[in-house]
Amino acid sequence: MSELRERDAMICRSCGEEERASEGYPCKDCGTFICIMCVFKGVVRCERCNAVAASAPPAAASHSTSSHAAPAPQEMDWPEH
Ligand SMILES: [Zn+2]
Ligand SMILES: [Zn+2]
Repeated sequence: MSELRERDAMICRSCGEEERASEGYPCKDCGTFICIMCVFKGVVRCERCNAVAASAPPAAASHSTSSHAAPAPQEMDWPEH
């Protein structure tokens, strides 16, 4: 599957692969593109933000996520509610 040279394609900031922008999600922290494949794997941040989050003090550890299709909007900056 290497036919992703569409106008839609963007580089995932987590795995570095070129994937469809319309199927991806924004990074939880900075809003850059995360491909759907990474989202399925539970990735919610780009590589950079993930490194920052990993080095940050654990605020809410042991939080079972990614059991639903939609990512849980807890610290999202999106208009909700
Ligand atoms: Zn990816
Ligand atoms: Zn990020």
